[in-house]
Amino acid sequence: MELRKDPITRSWVIVGDDVERPAQPGHCPFCPGAQNAPQVIATLNGNELGGGPISAMVHPAPLYRIEGEPHRHAEGIYDAMNTVGAHEVLVQSIRHDIELWQSSDAEISQFLLLTAQRIQDLKGDLRFKYVTMFKNHGPAASQEFDHPVSELTATTFVPRRVLYELRASRDYYLEKERCVFCDTLGQELRNPIRIVEALNHFVSMCPFASRVPYEIWIMPRKHESSFERSITSKSAHLNELAGLIRRTLQRVMSVSESFYLVLHTVPNTYQKSNILQYWKTVDEDYHWHIEILPIIGAKAKPYFLKEVYYTHISSESAAEKYRKLSIR
Ligand SMILES: [Zn+2]
Ligand SMILES: [Zn+2]
Ligand SMILES: [Zn+2]
Repeated sequence: MELRKDPITRSWVIVGDDVERPAQPGHCPFCPGAQNAPQVIATLNGNELGGGPISAMVHPAPLYRIEGEPHRHAEGIYDAMNTVGAHEVLVQSIRHDIELWQSSDAEISQFLLLTAQRIQDLKGDLRFKYVTMFKNHGPAASQEFDHPVSELTATTFVPRRVLYELRASRDYYLEKERCVFCDTLGQELRNPIRIVEALNHFVSMCPFASRVPYEIWIMPRKHESSFERSITSKSAHLNELAGLIRRTLQRVMSVSESFYLVLHTVPNTYQKSNILQYWKTVDEDYHWHIEILPIIGAKAKPYFLKEVYYTHISSESAAEKYRKLSIR
């Protein structure tokens, strides 16, 4: 496997011929005491509020490998590099049958803390430009393991979607000296037709230009570029965020059995890029958030679907439906 850069869009793509992995039926590698358990990287012990012990483990078939150097090199006009990085599995619970939205707020808080600590730790490695957490749930999201897990990757490049966001929020800031996420949130709260829940410190909302039906974001109300800094700070309001994540995922699960969840946080600002220049104002212009994209059985739209997002349920209708669900 290697990373290749599309010379036109400047996106990095993992390219290679996949090797079939032998299936190990019946043996969950993430249940306690598993014979085939992957290497444990970090563990958070159970807390007094009832959150159980949870661990980060090496992904059994990692997309990125921790050893070596990226060796970024040219092939004529093209750029390529080795798939150096980190790929970890965050085991959300020792129980095989409890997903995040069925967990207690104390358990979800534990998971958020472990995620933040792993991101902080990996950002200490100057080879890595970006670290993120994501979760693919359900058959349509190509869920890989039965055990309730999320994943974490550290990469030597900033992924495309985040790069778009960083460039756009930097441009907005240069023009207005304000954060585009804060401005968006302010406007949405004034006329809350797309707001699903507005709490003291966090908000869930359907974005104005949702890419898929029922897309929903979770954001802190107060400006903060770094998820990991927010979560590990003394004023983290972890319980409020945990409850919001739990209820939001319950809402999502009531409209779809599959979803993608991704955390967007600030890139590794220890790793300064001369081309991108984002680190100069990124703490002012970027605002961390969690994006959840449900996968709804596609109503076939043959034309341009792959080039332009087409959402057949408006953000306003989606938010209204989410608000009306009885969620505890
Ligand atoms: Zn298991
Ligand atoms: Zn902001
Ligand atoms: Zn984002």
